[in-house]
Amino acid sequence: MKKSRLAEFEKLCAIEPRLAALLERARAVKDDPAKPSFCANHIWYEELKPELTRLVGWRRKDNPALGTPRAYDISYQIIYDVLPACRDCACWGFAEVIQDVLGTAREEANHAA
Ligand SMILES: [Zn+2]
Repeated sequence: MKKSRLAEFEKLCAIEPRLAALLERARAVKDDPAKPSFCANHIWYEELKPELTRLVGWRRKDNPALGTPRAYDISYQIIYDVLPACRDCACWGFAEVIQDVLGTAREEANHAA
């Protein structure tokens, strides 16, 4: 993780403490070895991402610092990153691969701009 991203995320958290709370929620997620499988993407899409979209990105209209695609991207990457890896789940970490590819493409686009 790049330092500048973390610094930007911390600034966003100072404006919107619920982002920091969401990160803590993601950190608290554990892969329970007693269960046959664990899917980070299931938890992400069912529980964490819906909350994220309320806090940052285009849906967030009351605060210009929070309502940017960049605020969304940075928060997405940092919070998703702390989830344990998928284990024996049906998604095969596919969403994560797509996320990586999109992230790389976006960074390239940012460099070109
Ligand atoms: Zn999975």
